[in-house]
Amino acid sequence: MKKTKIICTIGPASLSKEVLEEMYRAGMNGVRINTAYGDLDQYKTIVDNVRETADIPIIVDIKGPEIRLRAERRVIIQKGEVIEVGFNREEISFNHDFYDEVSVGDDIYIDNGRIRTRILEKVGGTLRLLVMNDGEIDDGKGVNIPNKQLSVPSLSKKDLEIIEFAKEYDVEFIALSFTRNAQDVENLKAEADGYKGGLIAKIENLEGVKNFREILDRVEGIMIARGDLGVEIELERVPLVQKSLIRLCNQRGKTVVTATDMLESMMYSPTPTRAEVSDVANAILDGTDAVMLSGETSIGKYPVKSVSMMSRIAKDVEVAVKSHVEDGRFINISDTVSKAIRNVCQNMPLDKVVTLTRSGYTAKMIARFRIPQPIIAVTPEERVKRQLELVFGVYPVHIDYRNEKDRILAVARMLHSMNLIDEEDTVLFTAAFRTVLKHASNLIEIHTIKELMNLAVR
Ligand code: PEP
Repeated sequence: MKKTKIICTIGPASLSKEVLEEMYRAGMNGVRINTAYGDLDQYKTIVDNVRETADIPIIVDIKGPEIRLRAERRVIIQKGEVIEVGFNREEISFNHDFYDEVSVGDDIYIDNGRIRTRILEKVGGTLRLLVMNDGEIDDGKGVNIPNKQLSVPSLSKKDLEIIEFAKEYDVEFIALSFTRNAQDVENLKAEADGYKGGLIAKIENLEGVKNFREILDRVEGIMIARGDLGVEIELERVPLVQKSLIRLCNQRGKTVVTATDMLESMMYSPTPTRAEVSDVANAILDGTDAVMLSGETSIGKYPVKSVSMMSRIAKDVEVAVKSHVEDGRFINISDTVSKAIRNVCQNMPLDKVVTLTRSGYTAKMIARFRIPQPIIAVTPEERVKRQLELVFGVYPVHIDYRNEKDRILAVARMLHSMNLIDEEDTVLFTAAFRTVLKHASNLIEIHTIKELMNLAVR
């Protein structure tokens, strides 16, 4: 079984049930809806099709303060040309108004920096941009204005509609693009009042990197959105920023996703470049929980092959993964018990770890140690089950054990009947026993399954 989780962005190339099913069989563990494109009807089709295909999490990625182009049609542009871009739904316009915050001479980059332009003139509410290289602009393409802290609002009207959609369809995660600071997360929490899923902060500019710790405190997961990040900060800084953000997430047991350009050439080619294969492998070695496909699965020619390729790379490299988590100070009982479990796993032959976890926290705290044994996370909450699908080395199962007198035995029997544990297996069980405290898995039992079942019969 593969430990690294694969998230696929869904778009025209992949929204049919047939392709979703093939991608699931190839190793997809979660999907992302990029709301830069499409409308609520399309998102509903994706949610319906995914729900009918697999019990996996859906991430709705809202654009927040991200600046995007609105274009009535696709336009080919050439180096030396001057284009006019407004703020008020002209033929080509920006989605946020930052007219007063930019000056002649500022650089404006489009589509993850593929197109570079410079402001030549500001005339009556529109910008005249000098195009510095040939390319194509299209509706929804991202815009970066490096080194500017713009005061764009953290949520747009469209975002607010999508947040309502996320609540109504009970999706597992909302991802917030361009999260700049704690306030952006707090604004989202206030607007998403009543939403039961988790929040993922997308880190894609310098402010997000600088304020990373205060952001991490407030979210369940992080996405290292390298497409925009590589334009907003110097490209060569991305690898070390990636490593350090992943480490901080691992330390706290927070889910971390590495995204963008992972198998980019597979948009058009059935095989990736060697460098792309190494990039996926290195993100896994860095400690990422999940790797994400964007254009490869949303509009690419080879969505299923891209997922298969990622699965192959993951399976091969993850045997060499080591934990970078440092022991650090006491956080809570689950933190301490997860450290003890790491020691047990290193010191005796053990086949599996089973954690009975209501919120998923203990499963994530154990997983951060990258133990070689599979972690079966048993939870009574269906939403938590799906959220845990994104955690490295965790195989979540939904079992409502809450009314069982002997929870460990009941769970062992269920997992055995589901062929998830074997009679011959030696298994470590952990659970919260005789406590109502949060994050307090306080029990460790080690059993061979055959013996546990036989004892129970007597
Ligand atoms: C990115 O910029 O890397 C990213 C994942 O965001 P988006 O695909 O929404 O531009």
